[in-house]
Amino acid sequence: MPMIVNHGGIAISTISSSTPNILLLGGTTEATALAMLLAEARMTATLSYAGRTANPRPQPIPVRVGGFGGVDGLVDYVRSHRITHVVDATHPFAATMSAHAVEAAARTNVALAALTRPAWTPGTGDRWTQVADIAAAVAALDGPGRRIMLALGRQHVASFSAQPHHHYILRFVDAPDHPPPLPLHSLIVDRGPFTVDGDSTLMQAHRVDLVLCKNAGGPGAAAKLAAARQLGLPVLMIDRPWLPDRLLFEASEDVLRWIGHAGIDRGV
Ligand code: NAP
Repeated sequence: MPMIVNHGGIAISTISSSTPNILLLGGTTEATALAMLLAEARMTATLSYAGRTANPRPQPIPVRVGGFGGVDGLVDYVRSHRITHVVDATHPFAATMSAHAVEAAARTNVALAALTRPAWTPGTGDRWTQVADIAAAVAALDGPGRRIMLALGRQHVASFSAQPHHHYILRFVDAPDHPPPLPLHSLIVDRGPFTVDGDSTLMQAHRVDLVLCKNAGGPGAAAKLAAARQLGLPVLMIDRPWLPDRLLFEASEDVLRWIGHAGIDRGV
């Protein structure tokens, strides 16, 4: 079922006038799951990667790699490839791509839906402080030196060099080409899956006293939050970025149903 239906006055109808040709914006486990369903349903679809990962996993549908060249580039792609549906299954923090998808869909009159995982919410025993963005998280680290588990994508690590007096515990999927630009750090290379017990052991071994992460949501990365709760550790949680309203799904099966049964009637 869609969670939010606000598509700027666009009316959803049940009539599909042409065979769907789907552009799936990916880079997430949700996109991979949907790609599998689309392949099984024998739908025409292309999965798009930004190209950040050197060896993305093989996919059961055709793949394209690299930026489109802004909104204009995406509009050109949608038109020249006769795309009928754009499914934005990018990471909840990929705000630029998601905003481009909204604008390009509006300009080309194609159907757009997003597939995303629900955000995490604090529960009993959680000691969260929520901040708006990376800059606010960096600012919140004023004060005495701490041992911080910095559970963020590596592209954000350099921002924390503005608070060089903390000891950062970093966990990357692959060994980095260059050492992280933080004078005090421990680096763990591990691609998971992570467990609550494993993360709890790691936090104790590294004497972590603060966990800092983005509200990515989903089960995959939630172990560290449960571990922090068990150990009574505070969490500095970076909230999701603002995004324009879109049709939103949390299950890939619902996206498939939407593609199969919904066309777009804009009165044109
Ligand atoms: P972003 O800031 O929203 O996007 C920056 C630019 O990268 C976009 O303007 C677009 O370039 C290109 N791009 C992004 N996603 C693309 C896609 N799926 N296909 C083609 N081009 C894409 O995105 P980001 O935060 O750098 O994330 C990049 C990728 O990593 C996304 O696929 C996202 O799902 C994945 N990812 C992100 C995070 C995160 O924390 N941000 C975590 C895990 C995975 P043009 O303007 O040239 O089209």
